[in-house]
Amino acid sequence: MKIIFRAYKFKLQPTRKQKVLLDKHFGCVRFVYNHFLNERKEQYQSDKKSDNYYIQASILTQLKKNNETVWLKEVNSQSLQFALRCLDTAYINFFRGNANFPKFKSKKNKNTFTVPQFAKLGVDRFYIPKFKEGIKVNAHRKVKGDIRKCTLSKTPTGKYFVSILSEEQYKPKEKTGNICGIDLGLKDFAVTSDGIKFRNNKYTKQYERKLKKAQQYLSRKIIGSNSFERQRRKVSLIHEKITNSRMDNLHKVSHQLISNYDIIALEDLDIKKMVRNHKFAKHISDTGWGTFVKLLEYKAYWNDKKIIKINRFYPSSKTCHECGWINQDLNLSMREWTCGNGHIIDRDLNAAKNILKEGLKILSSGTGDYTDRDGVRSINAQLSMKSGV
Ligand SMILES: [Zn+2]
Repeated sequence: MKIIFRAYKFKLQPTRKQKVLLDKHFGCVRFVYNHFLNERKEQYQSDKKSDNYYIQASILTQLKKNNETVWLKEVNSQSLQFALRCLDTAYINFFRGNANFPKFKSKKNKNTFTVPQFAKLGVDRFYIPKFKEGIKVNAHRKVKGDIRKCTLSKTPTGKYFVSILSEEQYKPKEKTGNICGIDLGLKDFAVTSDGIKFRNNKYTKQYERKLKKAQQYLSRKIIGSNSFERQRRKVSLIHEKITNSRMDNLHKVSHQLISNYDIIALEDLDIKKMVRNHKFAKHISDTGWGTFVKLLEYKAYWNDKKIIKINRFYPSSKTCHECGWINQDLNLSMREWTCGNGHIIDRDLNAAKNILKEGLKILSSGTGDYTDRDGVRSINAQLSMKSGV
């Protein structure tokens, strides 16, 4: 058994009254974050140093007593303190060179607040401080383990969600003795070295026409009008649908791979760079390779399996896996080719086989960048707030 953190995301169905109070929470948390970020900025400009978390927390207590900001009392004080903590962390990360300077949060893109303690999930109700009667929730999965913290959010389409992070005693999956290399591609999403293909569902493309039409309608509306808002929701709904379908599929594929294999080798893709430069940028970001690799990594960590990353400059497509002959003329449109020694090569399968070979080489030399135990702890933490399977 091991301790893992798992994230669950459920849709909330607050009453009209609860919506008002939830919106107050979003607003107050955003106010606290922005107010104290501004304080820190101004202090830093004049004194070259600024208040830390503890000083700011005591000022916050004072703010709640002031007439102009007494409304801060209406919301869960722990959520406000948590916003201060986040600001503090953002500052520390910035000064360590790990992150950009903290940004002000806007109503448009940031409607979240965190409940660090005292959240409970009933059969169809979700309980947090200030919401004694509970908020109606569609908890379609049982939450295992103990709830650690919850983050509530509101989407641009006006839906409310809660992400629950739980700490769980987890029994890793059985070992299968299987290993594989995976080639991530555009034609097929993934091909394993033993020939299993996962389709590329091209979610954005599936919805492209619908989305374009909806966006065209939106562009004709007067900004701020009711019909503009309605249409904006429609556009967001399509985006949500695309994201959800893609995420579901990534979970399914990664789950299957981690169940079937003990060791998985894949290319270390510098996806950001590729998306910026490549003419296939749209398709690449649509396939969600980056998210997929992260899912694989944390599921590998949960189940004591290994992910080995191959240097992305390794010519996995160009090299014949049978004899090592290199095809210098290979281009993207060539799905099948014959090597100098007569081996007939299926492009993606060949690449997957080479990736496996290279992965095993790295594993046996012990020099590889591979994921197990401690190495992936930060990834696990990072991902823990996204939905898990
Ligand atoms: Zn060959």
